[in-house]
Amino acid sequence: MLAGRSLRVSFRTFGCKLNQAETEALADGFSAAGAVVVGPGELADLVVFNTCTVTSKAEQKARREMRLALRRNPEAVAIVTGCYAELEPEAVAAVAPRCVVVPGSRKGSVVGMASGLVAARLEGLDPLDELRRLAALAAGREADPFAFAPGDALFHSRPQLKVQDGCDNRCAYCRVCLARGHSVSLEPDEALRRALALESRGAPEIVLTGVNLSQYRSGGLDFPGLLEALVAGTEKIAFRLSSYEPDRADERFMAAFSPPRVRPHLHLSVQSGSDRVLAAMGRRYRRDAVLRAAEAARAARGDPFIGADIILGFPGEGDDDFADTVDLLERLEPAWVHAFTFSPRPGTRAFDMRPKVPERVAVERAAAVQAVAERGKAAFAARRAGRVVDAVIESPAESGEPALATSAEYLKLAIRGAPTGFVGACSCRVDPEPPTEGLRDGLDLTASFIA
Ligand code: SF4
Repeated sequence: MLAGRSLRVSFRTFGCKLNQAETEALADGFSAAGAVVVGPGELADLVVFNTCTVTSKAEQKARREMRLALRRNPEAVAIVTGCYAELEPEAVAAVAPRCVVVPGSRKGSVVGMASGLVAARLEGLDPLDELRRLAALAAGREADPFAFAPGDALFHSRPQLKVQDGCDNRCAYCRVCLARGHSVSLEPDEALRRALALESRGAPEIVLTGVNLSQYRSGGLDFPGLLEALVAGTEKIAFRLSSYEPDRADERFMAAFSPPRVRPHLHLSVQSGSDRVLAAMGRRYRRDAVLRAAEAARAARGDPFIGADIILGFPGEGDDDFADTVDLLERLEPAWVHAFTFSPRPGTRAFDMRPKVPERVAVERAAAVQAVAERGKAAFAARRAGRVVDAVIESPAESGEPALATSAEYLKLAIRGAPTGFVGACSCRVDPEPPTEGLRDGLDLTASFIA
């Protein structure tokens, strides 16, 4: 291997916003150590896989991509971390000989390996030996679940800030709690220090992430307390929440959710509209709590973007249960729904539950819920017609193409008239007529730039 060339590293992230936040910090750590961060499709000496275990499909995809990346560059090595690597290290290690597994619970130690790997590459040494040595060293040490401080580079104009990890609940279908362990929280002072760092770097918005934000506890604060402290301790940056438990979106939460610098966007982990299925899932609330949370959010913020996660095809879910789910969504009028089909996961209580719902039926139910979601999004977007909204431009206008942005309410906008190359906070006027055709996938509205 030729000496004197910098280590080229690329990253693959599977799964949730929390994994994305962690990968961003890892990429920043390698770039700070002198590595060259290259895109997923580019040739790399090191590929870092941040895996997910929520569905078997996510695991399959990770295995496929690992083989592909190492076939593309036989001299490359791979670090495989994340939830899949935490729960199935042997299966992951067996995918390819040049893979080194760092269990998800030690993901924080990967940042510390960067300088050693960069040095090895500069000396023209095979990084595999160095990687194995560093991974063995890290295996003997406690890893900090919050070793993912946002770095100098802003990879996103809406960076994520990890403030919580793990979960103390044990929902019947969930493997995340098994992979990430019990709930832990970032100290409020450190959370504020990181938020201020992002604000000073010009980030217009922070997305607060965790596995279960409602279980945040540190320094005598719960999550509403943390949110209040972050808003009080910063000047102009906005805060968005990744998702929240319906039963914890109570009066105290709504008080913290009300300030204008908190985005009017509440994504609820609902999972089902049937009380019988919620009980079987081991969820800690019933459908009325979901409706109460939405009602309170609307009382606090007028017309916030309410999103929901729904699992279809949970064992024992009958037509009546499904009808209850559709009925709940009709009453909830969400602006969006993530509809997932149930994936039986080894090690969870639901894995052996019966009767199973045929995959075909689960997929049909998910499609029906998707249709409800699209109607909800169209109605929510239409209520913005002609209005002035705040947004964050994430990809700049260039060569006649509009800028692409996310509005404060979480709508995806195509904005005409924005300065070429500009990214960041802006205000824009939504077009009076919602676009009838030609809007690119994933975009909801068109608008004209104001400032
Ligand atoms: S609340 Fe339930 S589904 Fe969510 S992470 Fe915890 S155990 Fe998993």
